Amino acid sequence: MIQWPPDLRQSPAPEQIRPILPRLWDNARFSGPIQQTGPAFTPESPAPRRHAMTPSPDTVAAGFDSLGLAKPLLEALADVGYETPSPIQAACIPLLLAGHDLLGEAHTGTGKTAAFALPLLQKIDLSRAMPQALVLTPTRELAIQVAEALQGYAKHLPGFHVLPIYGGQSMVVQLRQLSRGAHVIVGTPGRVMDHLERKSLALNNLSMLVLDEADEMLRMGFIDDVKWILEHTPATRQTALFSATMPDAIRRVAHQHLREPREVKIRSATATVVATSQSYCQTHSGQKLEALTRILEVEDDFDAALIFVRTKTATGELADKLGRAAIRSRR
Ligand code: AMP
Repeated sequence: MIQWPPDLRQSPAPEQIRPILPRLWDNARFSGPIQQTGPAFTPESPAPRRHAMTPSPDTVAAGFDSLGLAKPLLEALADVGYETPSPIQAACIPLLLAGHDLLGEAHTGTGKTAAFALPLLQKIDLSRAMPQALVLTPTRELAIQVAEALQGYAKHLPGFHVLPIYGGQSMVVQLRQLSRGAHVIVGTPGRVMDHLERKSLALNNLSMLVLDEADEMLRMGFIDDVKWILEHTPATRQTALFSATMPDAIRRVAHQHLREPREVKIRSATATVVATSQSYCQTHSGQKLEALTRILEVEDDFDAALIFVRTKTATGELADKLGRAAIRSRR
């Protein structure tokens, strides 16, 4: 039983079981149900189309080389150690390579970044240093993360250049970077809109647009900016929209701005691991470190612990703080 420091005892009891944790695809690999259907929009939409390929455990188990990806991308995947596509990758990569618009319902952790990043990279013409693809993300952290993933998968594409642009970063720096040219822009809606209005970003050569975590953009109040950007990009573009949930407002955006989208839905089976007991401690943000160090001190029946934080920067900050509390950690 954890003895809580006096100031934390005021907090609600920690021994509450959280009923549900999302199960990531690697737990669900080859067993999680995958649903791939044609467009869900009726009655205005054209008749739904079902794609010939319905991923099954077997198609998922087949390697990346069966998905139509080019050699430099397969080499990059081998470098990062991905052996088999996740269900969303197996479903989305061939559809995007074939040029379809896509509506993907999937949570973070399903491998959705590579699901859109790999086909996007395959379509880039490296000889033209102008934005050919735009990825919109709700946060700067995600923009940086997606840009890093793209750069990683493009390891064997010489001269490839991706640029993250987001609010809070110096405009002067961004203007300079934009003037140098980039093949792909990954940005938050507000800042992308700023650049379009200033004409420091031209999207007239855009052939692909990805909306990542669309429901988060809606929740954060960016949906009008997203619609504005959609209206200021070529109607000929290919569009992929990914969202963990599909509220009506997102379906409306998809209905208005996607052309006969194929729909891919990865249902992460929700399950708790029976052998793992789960509990939470509610505390104020200023007391989180104290609570964590106390738990690590009193819970001595473990060899190692994994601690998840929200951002990359926070990993370093927490590791430093734990070090000062004489708790060895690596980030
Ligand atoms: P995402 O849902 O895109 O944020 O990806 C979640 C994590 O899964 C990231 O750390 C990826 O590097 C990793 N990942 C994505 N696809 C694969 C794969 N096919 N094999 C192994 N790891 C993967």
